[in-house]
Amino acid sequence: MGKVTGFMEYQRLKEASELPQTRKKHYKEFVMHLSDDEAKIQGARCMDCGIPFCNNGCPVNNIIPDWNDLVYRGNYREALEVLHSTNNFPEFTGRVCPAPCESACTLGINSDPVGIKSIEHFIVDKAWENGWIVPQPAPVKTGKKVAIIGGGPAGLAAAQQLARAGHDVTVFEKNDRVGGLLRYGIPDFKMEKSHIDRRVQQMQAEGVQFRTGVLVGKDFPANITNWSKTTISPEQINKEFDAVVLSGGAEQPRDLPVPGRELKGVHFAMEFLPLQNKVVAGDKVKDQITAAGKHVVVIGGGDTGSDCVGTSNRHGAASVAQFELMPQPPETENKPMVWPYWPTKLRTSSSHEEGCERDWAVATKRLEGKGGKVEKLIAARVEWKDGKMQEVPNSEFEMKADLVLLAMGFVSPVAQVLEAFGVDKDGRGNAKASTDGDGCYQTSAAKVFAAGDMRRGQSLVVWAIREGRQCARAVDEFLMGSSVLPR
Ligand SMILES: Cc1cc2nc3c(=O)[nH]c(=O)nc-3n(C[C@H](O)[C@H](O)[C@H](O)COP(=O)(O)OP(=O)(O)OC[C@H]3O[C@@H](n4cnc5c(N)ncnc54)[C@H](O)[C@@H]3O)c2cc1C
Ligand code: SF4
Repeated sequence: MGKVTGFMEYQRLKEASELPQTRKKHYKEFVMHLSDDEAKIQGARCMDCGIPFCNNGCPVNNIIPDWNDLVYRGNYREALEVLHSTNNFPEFTGRVCPAPCESACTLGINSDPVGIKSIEHFIVDKAWENGWIVPQPAPVKTGKKVAIIGGGPAGLAAAQQLARAGHDVTVFEKNDRVGGLLRYGIPDFKMEKSHIDRRVQQMQAEGVQFRTGVLVGKDFPANITNWSKTTISPEQINKEFDAVVLSGGAEQPRDLPVPGRELKGVHFAMEFLPLQNKVVAGDKVKDQITAAGKHVVVIGGGDTGSDCVGTSNRHGAASVAQFELMPQPPETENKPMVWPYWPTKLRTSSSHEEGCERDWAVATKRLEGKGGKVEKLIAARVEWKDGKMQEVPNSEFEMKADLVLLAMGFVSPVAQVLEAFGVDKDGRGNAKASTDGDGCYQTSAAKVFAAGDMRRGQSLVVWAIREGRQCARAVDEFLMGSSVLPR
């Protein structure tokens, strides 16, 4: 434990960030990592409370009290080693993780929790700035070949672990760049894409091969991001590789089956967001969906919806509103009831701070327009009784809308690739595979494994990294009979 009295002496510090009015004029990151002195003080707030609930709250089980102490003492390189021992990509989670660890922090019971995410962000950014993160190629090669289908955080974590265990790893990605939703979902202002490129270079130096623009399978749904130029069949993959990891994400969006859904100007969030990320990457995009000068209504109150809000404001929307079907949650949680679990409470994202009218318990009834183009949205207020949703009588209202973005989550992976590999699905349409015991992460198809959103359904980056790492160990055990990779 760093400073015994630190938690009583020091306040939690929020990372500095650019003001909403200026940051919404650009697409760059606007949150600055802590300085050395600030990070030391934040590390000193950790009580090393004996049972580190934070370590359990974190899906990759980051060894948080240890790196808090190391940062307090200025041992940043050692802090990096501890951080990397559980997480391949802390610069991703240090930026976009919602930090369930902080909800589990013991100090949070009666004070502000330790700023765990800000310390993680500090350690890994400092390490990159100082050139401490270098390739770690395997000393011995096994001669075994592994195909990873899908280059999101789950696939990348699995690929890095397996390459470091000595296997020949090839990542197949249908989009023109790897990164999955980190690349083409999460906007640059939340995470710049140079962070992915840098890891890709590290992994290439560790022997991972990336084949981008290659769709494994065929007949992919048209509304799902797909910049593949070529296809390769599952049979070919099975013939060439000793093991296969399916990490294709949960890309099937939830639709809004209301009259007027077919009107022009009504889009899934994932038809809108990837195009802006491409523009930021310097690509020429024909027919970009733009919010400039439009009245935008985002349907769905989660992360994806919030990213649509931030992007629409940057486009220069005339107005931005966001509707959520569920009632407004309380501003603060009832700590004794929920700690150390993730609480349901009102969360205001940085994109909301930039300007957005939010409304809850609203159901969209229909969309109307002229000449085939959406012009307004008709909605009604709803209330929940005995777990059932009911429309509030006479509560119908309308809203001007020239762009409607559907951000109501994702129902499942695209079935096509699972079916092509002959993989059984669970009740929700995800790849069926357990995470415990013998044969964990293995699907019903011989030598085919699954990890990330494709296995667990729509989730978080940190869960994808956890599954990628654990799946890599299962694959290594399958190929070699045993594994020294961490779980
Ligand atoms: C807009 C948005 C914002 C989000 N914001 C956050 C956030 O702030 N914090 C957070 O923790 N989580 C966030 N999430 C969730 C998070 O991004 C995902 O849970 C995570 O990326 C899942 O990782 P994955 O590797 O399992 O799948 P994905 O990231 O979806 O990657 C799957 C990859 O597989 C590729 N693929 C699929 N099928 C094939 C095929 N047949 N052949 C070749 N390639 C294929 C896809 O093109 C994709 O690149 C957000 C999600 C969205 C949509
Ligand atoms: S990865 Fe997320 S949950 Fe884990 S320590 Fe970092 S911020 Fe906390």
